[in-house]
Amino acid sequence: MYLSGTKRINEKNHLEIGGVDTTDLVKHFGTPLYVLDEFEIRNKMREFINTFKSFGIPFQVAYASKALCTMAICYLVEDEGLSLDVVSGGELFTAIEAGFPTNRIHFHGNNKSVAEITMAIEAEIGAFIVDNLYEIELIESIAENKQKRVNALIRVTPGIEAHTHEYIQTGQEDSKFGFNLVDAAYNAAKLVHQSKWINLLGFHFHIGSQIFDMKGFEKAIERMAGFYRFIHDELDVELPIINAGGGFGIHYVEEDEPLSIREYVVSLVESFKYHFYKQGLKLPEIWIEPGRSIIGEAGTTLYTIGSSKNIPNIRKYIAVDGGMMDNPRTALYQAKYDAAIANRMIYDQSEVVSVAGKACESGDMLIWDIELNSPVAGDILAVFSTGAYNYSMASNYNRIPRPAMVLVNEGEAELIVRRETYSDIIQFDVVPERLKKNKVKILG
Ligand SMILES: *Cc1c(COP(=O)(O)O)cnc(C)c1O
Repeated sequence: MYLSGTKRINEKNHLEIGGVDTTDLVKHFGTPLYVLDEFEIRNKMREFINTFKSFGIPFQVAYASKALCTMAICYLVEDEGLSLDVVSGGELFTAIEAGFPTNRIHFHGNNKSVAEITMAIEAEIGAFIVDNLYEIELIESIAENKQKRVNALIRVTPGIEAHTHEYIQTGQEDSKFGFNLVDAAYNAAKLVHQSKWINLLGFHFHIGSQIFDMKGFEKAIERMAGFYRFIHDELDVELPIINAGGGFGIHYVEEDEPLSIREYVVSLVESFKYHFYKQGLKLPEIWIEPGRSIIGEAGTTLYTIGSSKNIPNIRKYIAVDGGMMDNPRTALYQAKYDAAIANRMIYDQSEVVSVAGKACESGDMLIWDIELNSPVAGDILAVFSTGAYNYSMASNYNRIPRPAMVLVNEGEAELIVRRETYSDIIQFDVVPERLKKNKVKILG
């Protein structure tokens, strides 16, 4: 079992996070419950920032808020001096409402709407990461209309595949995102370079997610340096910024072997230096966009175990009070998770089981074949590394309310997302008067 951050086994043989006994969290807040370790989140952010600082070069670390975006998270991101990536009006609104400095917000997305672009220009965000020609036209006309000049990076697909599950690869040529190198990207650059309303800062690339080795990044950086040289020669500009995206891997299960954040950053910076100097260029300001590597391991989901089904010689299923509604990643990507019985951490008798959710869907599984400390009904199951792409991908499938989320630190637990209620579930439902009248007729 890999216990990251402040997770530890306390004297009662319970899982403790941020100095709080998880069984107390369950008594107080119920299950399912997302628990976030504030110390761990801040530590990861600081490791990114401090490693860049040790090089004495200009940089920005933008937290990719799509991994987990709530107002409290935006406060933490601001407090640690990071920038923020958003990919929708909803994420932008969350950041603005949290008072996040808009000049440190970068706006991503392959189909930004007029309303979203207008909102971002009015808020005077730091930069758009422009994805396609249609968007360039929209930004140009809205910026002119508002008489506000905007900054932009152009997203390119450098044609590098990162080794990860195919559904979450975004760097290959056949991708819905960005302009392909070289021609499409060059034409977009020319267009933006000539624009009166868009200020071209540089290019952006993102080669995938849950990446464990730096070869893909090195290859992409080599290509990008060559492309910056080409742009320099053709358009006579030395672009001030380059954005290498996110995708740094984390521990989900014991076998995962991610590099440390420090190792990822050192390798990136050295690679940028080597390839840009080789092209006779100055080192541009480096931006990166980690999401999972900041928030993933800091999240733990607590469930209560209920029913079980034993199929002799085949498999034993145990069911929890959540599932694909709060964590769709196993169902979507065959993601792997590690877990433990939070109220009996040290194993006395282990048993291999598969953890099912409670949704009416055979694919609703959280973990296949995991060795747990013989789980029984009423035990608390802690699933680790659920901070990224869990709450942010959660749904109300089967009309199940979404869990609460607490931030734990130094023995205190504070609610940062309250648990949804059944009233929340029906709040958007509208019944036309006509149907209500019919009902009265039938009944009466
Ligand atoms: C998803 C995404 C990220 C963050 O990826 P992680 O794997 O969470 O680090 C960064 N940049 C872009 C463009 C993305 O799409």
